[in-house]
Amino acid sequence: MTTVPVKTRFAPSPTGYLHLGNVRTALFNALLARRWGGRFLLRIEDTDRERSRPEYVAALLEDLRWLGLDWREGPQIGGPHEPYAQSARGAIYAQYYQQLADSERAYPCFCTPAELALSRKAQLTAGRPPRYAGVCARLSEAERQARLERDPRPTLRFRVPAGRMVEFTDLVRGPQRFASDDIGDFVIRRADGTPQFFFANAVDDALMRITHVLRGEDHLANTPRQLLVLEALALPAPRYGHLALIVGADGGPLSKRAGDLSVRELRAAGYLSEALLNYLARLGHAYERDVWMEPTELAAGFAPERLGRAPARYDEAQLLHWQSEAVQHATPERLWTWMEAAVRERVPASLRAEFIAAIRPNIRFPTDAAFWAERLFDVDSTPSADGRVVIATAGPEFFAQALAAYDRHGAAYQPLVDDLRQRTGVKGRNLFMPLRAALTGETHGPELARLLALLPREIVQRRLQACC
Ligand code: GLU
Repeated sequence: MTTVPVKTRFAPSPTGYLHLGNVRTALFNALLARRWGGRFLLRIEDTDRERSRPEYVAALLEDLRWLGLDWREGPQIGGPHEPYAQSARGAIYAQYYQQLADSERAYPCFCTPAELALSRKAQLTAGRPPRYAGVCARLSEAERQARLERDPRPTLRFRVPAGRMVEFTDLVRGPQRFASDDIGDFVIRRADGTPQFFFANAVDDALMRITHVLRGEDHLANTPRQLLVLEALALPAPRYGHLALIVGADGGPLSKRAGDLSVRELRAAGYLSEALLNYLARLGHAYERDVWMEPTELAAGFAPERLGRAPARYDEAQLLHWQSEAVQHATPERLWTWMEAAVRERVPASLRAEFIAAIRPNIRFPTDAAFWAERLFDVDSTPSADGRVVIATAGPEFFAQALAAYDRHGAAYQPLVDDLRQRTGVKGRNLFMPLRAALTGETHGPELARLLALLPREIVQRRLQACC
């Protein structure tokens, strides 16, 4: 027995930027392929000529690479099933239209949009679900020829077999059954010659030897149509799994404020790709352990049976949690690249490593790093309101002693505070807080010993002096 290697794909329509929702679909497919030692393919579904744009294709390739969701077959790298953009596959689809037309499994349809709208309205009024009424399905060959002369650009409609049950086992939702009588004959080629989604998507999955398709639940109703097309063409069907959609915290659709964010926006805001991966891999999918995972571990622990059926709720607090985790787990080099533009002008090259080590536990975004760079290295940085209160409470004598202790011990933190405690009799919080406020302007922040070691001598002296 030979087993077919697992092959999954991501098939975006380039009509906008990648958002959390479609990136999650890409991620699950990529994880499934990695988990089962298979191949992940990328196909561009750009049949909607009006809405597809080359700049969106370029953006989505860049976004996927940024996320580390590299495809083994597809645009830019090629593969055995080129081309990987549907707009360039017209000649391939033409053969299959022909095959369906020759076997009477598809027929030209001359109904105008106005006629179709009228029929739809009539069915709705009669309380029936709207379906194609079958007008052109019954044309004789002579009638067809006559119509073709008047209207040489009909659509091509798939003839849905009557009285059938279309059944399949969904990877997420289990057994599914659809009565073919509920599905009207549907268009597979539009009047402008472009393929309809159902058709191109199904045919390409078969030709590209896709074995598993994870996609949004909004496609569930398309699946019986696609299975019928594949059956009529004697092409193999992939296993489908329909993912519960992502909803906002209130259970409603995602909004701009809650989760409907593009990968570009998140990246510009300073999210690390590993944070998005750790978050999204858990959105509608449960791991055995809820701990930080490297991409290889995310793949190793991925299991389609752990995909949930209930809508997945977007939760910003969770996303922020994984962002913090990503910052704690990144290498210093990675963090430097990430924060460089925000801190480069302030942080001396010789102090980079120490700066990163000191502030890492206290930052989530490059703007946080910029904040501490300003607090530490800007001579004109002034204390916050809280800081000023603490400084005033401690009084000038305390800081005169602190300055003297600094002159004796320099950045040797422990000897400095021991000395200061002895000379002032102040201890605990009353000692550390004013010191922190004078040195950093803040009453919270990274470990003070590390900051003291980072602070340039003249800045320490100047700031202590200013409090005396
Ligand atoms: N182009 C379709 C979409 O973006 C693909 C659906 C599918 O994955 O089959 O929704």
